[in-house]
Amino acid sequence: MAERNPLTYELKNGWKEMSPEIREDAMAFCGDYIRFLNDAKTERESVTVMVSMLQSAGFVDFNTYIAGNKSVKPGDKIYWVNREKALIAAVVGNQDPTLGMNMVGAHIDAPRLDFKPNPLCDDGGFVMAKTHYYGGIKKYQWVAVPLAIHGVILRKDGTKFNIRIGENPGDPVFYISDLLPHLAGDQMGNTASKVVSGEQLKVVLGSIPGTETEEDGEKRSLKENLLTLLHEQYGLSESDFLRGEIEVVPAFQAGDVGLDRSLVGGYGQDDRVCSYTGLRALLDLEGVPSKTAVCYLSDKEEIGSVGNTGARANWLENFVLELCHAWNPSYEMVALRRSLSNTCFLSADVTAAFDPCYPEVYEKGNSAFAGCGVAIAKYTGSRGKSGASDASAELVASVTDIFDGEQIPWQIAELGKVDAGGGGTIAQFMTDIGMDVLDCGVPVISMHSPYEVTSKADVYWTYRAYRAFMQG
Ligand code: MN
Ligand code: MN
Repeated sequence: MAERNPLTYELKNGWKEMSPEIREDAMAFCGDYIRFLNDAKTERESVTVMVSMLQSAGFVDFNTYIAGNKSVKPGDKIYWVNREKALIAAVVGNQDPTLGMNMVGAHIDAPRLDFKPNPLCDDGGFVMAKTHYYGGIKKYQWVAVPLAIHGVILRKDGTKFNIRIGENPGDPVFYISDLLPHLAGDQMGNTASKVVSGEQLKVVLGSIPGTETEEDGEKRSLKENLLTLLHEQYGLSESDFLRGEIEVVPAFQAGDVGLDRSLVGGYGQDDRVCSYTGLRALLDLEGVPSKTAVCYLSDKEEIGSVGNTGARANWLENFVLELCHAWNPSYEMVALRRSLSNTCFLSADVTAAFDPCYPEVYEKGNSAFAGCGVAIAKYTGSRGKSGASDASAELVASVTDIFDGEQIPWQIAELGKVDAGGGGTIAQFMTDIGMDVLDCGVPVISMHSPYEVTSKADVYWTYRAYRAFMQG
């Protein structure tokens, strides 16, 4: 372990803090993480994969407690799913939950392209699906790359059709065109936000023209031909699309980056890196913690935490109330308020890692660096901390004391220079309900791009940090 001058704030290096055994553990952990990224590219898939991880570890659906009026006891392991898109998992602690809990909260949605409700069109020999982008993307990054289609459609017959095309070997992939440089003179003169417009993000689905039908001799249009294929292969009609949620995501597989395999490259690491590390931390807790440990995984963060699966919804409060009630049937609303105001919450979201190709937007003394451990942000926001939850000095001190006690390398950072931009997390919605909240997660390079990069050292130390925090 590297020696440190106790009188200065010096960054530790996450790799140098590892013994050979820990490094081996970290590499294996990141192998599991990469498999998770490939299995769970959407919020629904994340819930499915994580519920199976939880069930394998003996966690039980909290609805069975609620339906059976069953009380919770220290050591009970429970999970609760919200509309297939958000998830809470908890290990019940020895203490009364009104004395507070230790929560780690991340989000499992990621920037993507959603099919429009009536998506199909044909033009110039192609059948395409129109999309509406979800979250903050650079639209030009989504053209001329292989794409996959994930989602669900509720068929008229009541069955739910799960779609996942473009992920398995032999699957076709999908594609949005970009203009050839030879004809892109005008396009290249636009500002980057207008190089590709939202309406141009049309996904090519097919191009074989219709044949003349024997009955009426009429030519089927391209679109009709594709609809016939959709009907024959999947039993779908055009009107079924409005009964679905179809997400277009990059078809690349996540994997190791660099000759030394020190980095993870993949789609949707904001914020599935904190979601995965948070859940694994809960699964790997030793014994029964004194405070109830909770991993909360929300949806819709990328569009403002809206909706009944987002972090602004009172679903997490409902969980805490149900848990208090299951602990002691006489507990009512006052128990909820006491529990929330005594709860400590790590807002587990990514921050920007210093990017040596774009140093001008970072202030080096207050930046997170890939490889230097879990990154804490005292505050986020933009234009003078607007939209931030500014954690108290007391909270920063107590959380960093936990990390120091476990020899976990950590760093503290702002997201870019003052007035260079900014961003928010779910932290502010948790402070609204009275919790003590600190932003804490993995630094990411190329955040919100189709292929984001993280350091394996940071992924591992973040997992260890969340585990130490929840262990109490
Ligand atoms: Mn995020
Ligand atoms: Mn984000």
